[in-house]
Amino acid sequence: MMKTMVHASAWTSLTPAPKQYAWLDQDITCQVAVVGGGISAAMIALRFAQAGLDTVMVSESPLGYGSTAVSSGIMTLSGRDCLTCMAEEIGPERAMTASRLMTEAIDQIEKLCSSFDDACGFQRMDSLRYTERPEEAAKIRREYSLRLHSGMEVELLDSITGSQQFTFPMEAGMYAKNAAAQVDPYRLVHGAAEAAEKAGARIYENTSAETLDESGEEAVILECANGRTIKADYVIMASGIGMSHMLGGIDEVRTTYMLVTEPVAGFAGWRGPCVIHREEEPRLYCSVTEDRRILIGGLDSYYMDEKGRVAGVLDMSPAMDKRFDSLAMTLKEMFPAIPDLTAEYVFASPDASTKDTLPIIGRLPDSSRVAYALCCGDNGILFAEIAGRLLLQQYQGVDNQELGLFSPGRSWRVKR
Ligand SMILES: Cc1cc2nc3c(=O)[nH]c(=O)nc-3n(C[C@H](O)[C@H](O)[C@H](O)COP(=O)(O)OP(=O)(O)OC[C@H]3O[C@@H](n4cnc5c(N)ncnc54)[C@H](O)[C@@H]3O)c2cc1C
Repeated sequence: MMKTMVHASAWTSLTPAPKQYAWLDQDITCQVAVVGGGISAAMIALRFAQAGLDTVMVSESPLGYGSTAVSSGIMTLSGRDCLTCMAEEIGPERAMTASRLMTEAIDQIEKLCSSFDDACGFQRMDSLRYTERPEEAAKIRREYSLRLHSGMEVELLDSITGSQQFTFPMEAGMYAKNAAAQVDPYRLVHGAAEAAEKAGARIYENTSAETLDESGEEAVILECANGRTIKADYVIMASGIGMSHMLGGIDEVRTTYMLVTEPVAGFAGWRGPCVIHREEEPRLYCSVTEDRRILIGGLDSYYMDEKGRVAGVLDMSPAMDKRFDSLAMTLKEMFPAIPDLTAEYVFASPDASTKDTLPIIGRLPDSSRVAYALCCGDNGILFAEIAGRLLLQQYQGVDNQELGLFSPGRSWRVKR
């Protein structure tokens, strides 16, 4: 299986940068400055620019090169944790609101992608959540009931019906029609940024916003590493996991692993092909890209830095390679009827999530001119779309209860 493996993100390897943006070389003013260059900043800049606001987006790296580059690009209504788990954590009503917002976000991203020249590899998919363990089967059945109750088109699978549709064993599974989607996250960032620029946004790459001064009466001042300043009426920090120390609430940082195959001819033993999530730990998920590559990810470990080191010292690259071998082996075991599975890209990346798996979106209590969008976790792409919509409503003064669901101040999310 391990033939011509590249240790890099498949998305950025397969698509040369669709566009490069200049760095900021003068002092500027704007109504709204969005700090970041990933999917969160791109979605937010797009919404604000389309609403007619004078918007600037400023990114330290080339666009799409943060966590977004290593995202699997899967969109489902639940990721690592199912909806029943979320309902236990935050209550059924809030969980159902989150689920509705995520459903709307998939629809919105589908609409956006179809409006771009490049549809960003977006494809609607069915989804399967399953378990091999008898002790977890009740959880799948509860999830099925909740989804059925919420109006989704779902089927409950058992070991017999499961084996008629998939070549791997399952004790119970929930198959949902049209409940998921796959996208190329790197192309999506570029698609959204290009649309934002068309709507009037000014976009700068390779420009790091170093300090934020909101002490002035009239504007917030962002000072960039090269000494240039951005004077903005309103700032939205969407600069990824690095800003979590300002917000608190990150429950867990782990390293997750991903393998992408060469394109395959067929998907024997894989109904759909659908997005697959295994319920139990270590988590495992599979999907299929528009160009018929299989993507398998998960097998999370404790946190390692980007060089595969623990505490910046201990070299764990052999342990990482073992995880990649394990993903390759698991894929072969799950789909013995798919011939010539050849791994082409493997990569590992730190990933973080909050306790209730929801993002942190909104303002801190002591600030009216700076908002945050920390869209982490398995559904970061959907959360980025939600952040764009809800933050725009907040800026426009629309009374919005839904934003409270993601507020930096929600009870367990006190600054640590
Ligand atoms: C391995 C892995 C798999 C994942 N799979 C999925 C998935 O299948 N589906 C899904 O929805 N989500 C997934 N996620 C989560 C998702 O990828 C992230 O939540 C999302 O990409 C975060 O986007 P972002 O824009 O908030 O942050 P990032 O993509 O990290 O972008 C942050 C940006 O901010 C810029 N920046 C940082 N500091 C500054 C500064 N001071 N000034 C200017 N710019 C700055 C950086 O240069 C970068 O461009 C996955 C994550 C990982 C790690």
